[in-house]
Amino acid sequence: MSRSKGFNTRALHDGERSIERSVTQPIFQSSTYIYEGEEDYTAVRYGRLNNTPNHEMLSAKIASLESTEDAVVTASGMSAVTTAILSLVGSGEHLLAQDNLYGGTYYFLQDDLPFWGREVSLFPTQESETIEQYLRPNTKAIYVESISNPLLKIPDFEKIISVAKKRGILTLIDSTFSSPYNFNPSALGFDVVVHSATKYLNGHTDVLAGAIAGPAELLKGIRKLLCHLGPTLDPHACFLLNRGIKTLGVRISRQNDTALKLAETIQKFPKIRKVFYPGLVSHPDYHRAQKWFRGCGGVFSFDFDGSEEELETALGKLTLPFNAPSLGGIESLITRPCKTSHSGISKLEREKLGITDTLVRVSVGLEDFEDLRRDFERALGG
Ligand SMILES: *Cc1c(COP(=O)(O)O)cnc(C)c1O
Repeated sequence: MSRSKGFNTRALHDGERSIERSVTQPIFQSSTYIYEGEEDYTAVRYGRLNNTPNHEMLSAKIASLESTEDAVVTASGMSAVTTAILSLVGSGEHLLAQDNLYGGTYYFLQDDLPFWGREVSLFPTQESETIEQYLRPNTKAIYVESISNPLLKIPDFEKIISVAKKRGILTLIDSTFSSPYNFNPSALGFDVVVHSATKYLNGHTDVLAGAIAGPAELLKGIRKLLCHLGPTLDPHACFLLNRGIKTLGVRISRQNDTALKLAETIQKFPKIRKVFYPGLVSHPDYHRAQKWFRGCGGVFSFDFDGSEEELETALGKLTLPFNAPSLGGIESLITRPCKTSHSGISKLEREKLGITDTLVRVSVGLEDFEDLRRDFERALGG
């Protein structure tokens, strides 16, 4: 950890090792390595054990950016989420999580964790201030997301951490939507941070990856389980992820700016009922974002005032954003959560969560603001 250096300097230099005078670290396309007398199984250098030079460099870099003692990379965001939870919450123990969760995480908690003997319950995200009432005597960990999808809610982190610390409960956060550039959960007191590195960390819509960061003591058990389960990031994906992370700061600072300006612009269109972005004063969690975040990231949502058909016609006029799920990449994307991320939930349940069939999520990329503004104005401004 080298907290004295700035974020971008750390993103470029931390963890890097020059090989044969190379400026960028090469891809170690080797599944196994020459044995040198290691006695511990996990010290034997082998691809699945997450200890090749490409893994070690990325781990050091991510730990530096999250200001944690240790970190590991995984083959997807979901493998980071599932491995961290399975390692930290044992059979017979209870996991308390917010109700507004990433779809994959939600289904894992609902369908799989109870099968493996873990108790799971959800609390309404907007009730994080009174989270005590949801704790059980066997609560082992609390799980939240830094910014929820697609309404961009931010739980009361300080309250959650203070309650958890008092009771000796672990805190886990999926910080995918904020990225380490906008928010360092460990500085507030979160124990373990997970990321879908598929999104902002890699940023180029060409890699699936995940990351887990936290104290060395907890990472030891997480690494061990990861080696047993086997969702290892392959060396080429490690190389691409490392390359992506080097520009994380410049990408996110631009995405913060463009998303805020675009959200402000769209908010004024007569056909737009509401825009959800924590960088807007109108968002209920604006003050939390101001207090804890360096910026609010590239994702916002808006609710269209019209029929689904009218919405589809309008979205069809957009020329720049791709209509695709995912987020955090350099190309702008739009998606209707009712058709993608939340299609597995009934319309009634969705409406209870505030996710209407005319809600559109936008992930702002690196296109010039003026071009995006003109594109959205032409499609939705009338
Ligand atoms: C995408 C996403 C995940 C899952 O990541 P994958 O890389 O697709 O496995 C988990 N959490 C959040 C918040 C996400 O956006």
